[in-house]
Amino acid sequence: MLSYTDARRKVIEVAGSIPRPSLRTQVEIEQAFGRILAEPVLADRDYPPFDRSTRDGFAVRSADAQNPGAHLECVGELRAGGHFDAPVLPGQCVEIMTGAGVPQGADAVVMVEHTKREGRTITLERTAQKGDHIVLRGSEARTGTLLVAPKTRLGYAEMALAAQAGATRLDVFAAPRLAILSTGDEVVDARSKPGPLQVRNSNGISIEILARTAGAQTIQLGNAPDEKSALRAAIERGLEQDILVLSGGVSMGKYDLVEQVLADLGAEFHFTGVSIRPGRPAVFGICRKKLVFGLPGNPVSTMVTFELFVLPAVDVLSGAIPRPLPVFRAKLATSVREKGPVTHFLPARIEWEGREARVTQLPWQGSGDIVALALANGFLIVSPDRPEIASGEWVDVLPRRGAI
Ligand code: AMP
Ligand code: MG
Repeated sequence: MLSYTDARRKVIEVAGSIPRPSLRTQVEIEQAFGRILAEPVLADRDYPPFDRSTRDGFAVRSADAQNPGAHLECVGELRAGGHFDAPVLPGQCVEIMTGAGVPQGADAVVMVEHTKREGRTITLERTAQKGDHIVLRGSEARTGTLLVAPKTRLGYAEMALAAQAGATRLDVFAAPRLAILSTGDEVVDARSKPGPLQVRNSNGISIEILARTAGAQTIQLGNAPDEKSALRAAIERGLEQDILVLSGGVSMGKYDLVEQVLADLGAEFHFTGVSIRPGRPAVFGICRKKLVFGLPGNPVSTMVTFELFVLPAVDVLSGAIPRPLPVFRAKLATSVREKGPVTHFLPARIEWEGREARVTQLPWQGSGDIVALALANGFLIVSPDRPEIASGEWVDVLPRRGAI
């Protein structure tokens, strides 16, 4: 059975081989958060566009500022956005504000804190060297150079950079469309009142939020019963989208029919199980040229397997470079012991003591227990080669998306 890292690799490889027209749309910059850029954003002019002062102070000729105590004559004032036409001559300086263009002749700025003023006479209390407190025109980017590359996920910094360059309408890739189909005779809509042995559909919500967070557009298909023809009809509707994510019906039970129905529809499976707990029965394949994931129905299994396997597929179909799994190290607060040749993802609480992350496993009743998961902000990862770990040791943890 595949390890979760190999299974992820497989998903990325297969998703990359899917022929998908690289659909693009244009969006206003305010709507572009989280989207993947399709066309490069170039510098429309030099950045900075002029030699910019980064301090409030005095623009000087550095040759005049080689000795502390030098006196200069202040011949004018420059506010941000303001012009100063005459060149600064030897023995002169110009009062300058942060963000103003350094006047001709001057090549350094002395901070106001390091000067004394008496009328028009400025005394420099410190020396200054050429370039001090000035960012030269074009030193961040030259006109025409690449500012934001295609395939970049647009976050606040990239978007601010695009705004700076006047790119307020952006070409982005169309979000992949992801159909969500819950299965199970016992599952009812979250808005309805369940019978004593029924459960409300919570996976519909967790998958929807995970998918939207990943950058997909979601289509809810509700719940299908554990009955072949109804399941088949619902799956066929799901296959009209780019990705179909099912929950439930992939275990060994007599009424776990998802794999069988997918096979009847001609699915080619790339894995039918991964060496993890929760989430071992997860299924991934291609059916009618669409990516299909059969995630186990236990709510924590559904969430873990979405994070591990569906998310990279959404990245690839979004036109993005798949994000790495954000695993990091934390110090174990209590010892753990987990059996079996699988990698465990255990609900856990990660806290910081100073700069050191510490992780505590939370008590839970297994993969159906979202009461515990909602208290967790991450997963403690216990790999099969280290079934017993003493407290104080360093372990891998995976943050729960959005909780840290
Ligand atoms: P299954 O993977 O179909 O064997 O289901 C495993 C467990 O998850 C069972 O206890 C189901 O009742 C539960 N389950 C399945 N689908 C859902 C769902 N959409 N929402 C909440 N629980 C579910
Ligand atoms: Mg079921």
